[in-house]
Amino acid sequence: MASAEFDGVTALPDPATRRAHALRAAVAQGVLGADLPVVGLLDATGIRESARELRAAFATPGVSVSHAFAVKAASLVPVLRLLYAEGIGCEVASPGELALARAAGVPVSHIVLDSPAKTAAELREALALGVAVNADNPQELDRLDALLAGSSTTSPIGLRVNPQIGGGSIAATSTATDRSKFGLPLRDPGAVDWLVRSCARRPWVTRLHAHTGSQGCPLELMAEGVRVTYELAERINAVTGRQQIDTLDIGGGLPVNFASDVTTPTHRAYARLLRATVPGLFDGRYGIVTEFGRSLLAKHGTILARVEYTKTAGGRPIAVTHAGAQLATRTVYAPGAWPIRVTALDDKGHPKSGERVAQDVAGPCCFAGDIVAEARELPPLEEGDLVALLDTGAYYFSNHYQYNSLARPGIYGYVSDGSGVRFATVRAPQTLDEIVAESGGAQPEALSALT
Ligand SMILES: *Cc1c(COP(=O)(O)O)cnc(C)c1O
Repeated sequence: MASAEFDGVTALPDPATRRAHALRAAVAQGVLGADLPVVGLLDATGIRESARELRAAFATPGVSVSHAFAVKAASLVPVLRLLYAEGIGCEVASPGELALARAAGVPVSHIVLDSPAKTAAELREALALGVAVNADNPQELDRLDALLAGSSTTSPIGLRVNPQIGGGSIAATSTATDRSKFGLPLRDPGAVDWLVRSCARRPWVTRLHAHTGSQGCPLELMAEGVRVTYELAERINAVTGRQQIDTLDIGGGLPVNFASDVTTPTHRAYARLLRATVPGLFDGRYGIVTEFGRSLLAKHGTILARVEYTKTAGGRPIAVTHAGAQLATRTVYAPGAWPIRVTALDDKGHPKSGERVAQDVAGPCCFAGDIVAEARELPPLEEGDLVALLDTGAYYFSNHYQYNSLARPGIYGYVSDGSGVRFATVRAPQTLDEIVAESGGAQPEALSALT
């Protein structure tokens, strides 16, 4: 990769500078244009940097550490391929996500299948492929008993547990609450005894898995979830008299700072806390699997959208843009839990100046709540300006919502260095023909012919 040379010292622009250059270049190079009023941008350099920071954070002599990216956070084949080139596999939770991981060339030995609703066919396929599987509940263990009878697999098999240690500030992403739908609830009466007996009877259960939560969960809570899981593994191994549980899958969930360009907390800080809270996890007796999603991608994505019109209503200025609930679904429906930064740019992609005024930044969807930022203080936006929605690399490009049949926008990766900005298409924009085809366009008479 080319880089800027200053007095013989190689210096790459920082992420915010790379982004600023990319926003201008997206306009200048026509990535955003008359027919393309909204695009997603991904900083390839930033993704690589986060992947390396994660690996360095957990690297421990004598310990096998395997990282799997939670595909739901950015279900884009080129993203999975780039991460795999940095040594990070995939955590998948559906046949679609498994297909994406395989299309990216990720070997089955680096894929973990988690899902609370795996069908028998999905389990059978995973076992045939040799993909690691984390069972969610006793019924799934029974299904595995049946599938494994008389056949063998190279799939490592784990059991997901719910440490029931409480939630974080966002209920929808807290998975270790008393009534979470995920995993085996450890504090329910008799659960631990049942689990220890049932693992002892199933020598093929060699992993325990816990994912305590995502955005909104304090690091201490996540580390406590890992500690409880580790203690349980120790107990199973004591009862069976051998290292039956040889790997702990600690899930993902590192929260992301959506308030500034600072990356905090870091994977390194979390790994340090884990080393202090669960030292036995790092002493070489256990392999470690992680499943981070948001923390690897969020900071590296930006949505760039045109302001189509501006108006005022009830004294409030409103900018009507092309980025709304179809892209920022959680932000629009749960703005308190998922606020994002929005910046005001002119029609060339340069930051606007001028006295800040409270404005609503609205989307294109036909419902009144389609507001990405309410009463946000920004330089006055005008027709033809642009807005950038920052930190949208995770759970924005992968969570498209087909409201109003708005097209999935194109996603473009960029490298921004001393020699300029280069773009590559990660996902082409959805076409009108595709929208029609995905909406029953091939059988217009289906209902009429029935009656
Ligand atoms: C969603 C999820 C993850 C990733 O969570 P992030 O907050 O994006 O890191 C990891 N593991 C499981 C089981 C999940 O459901």
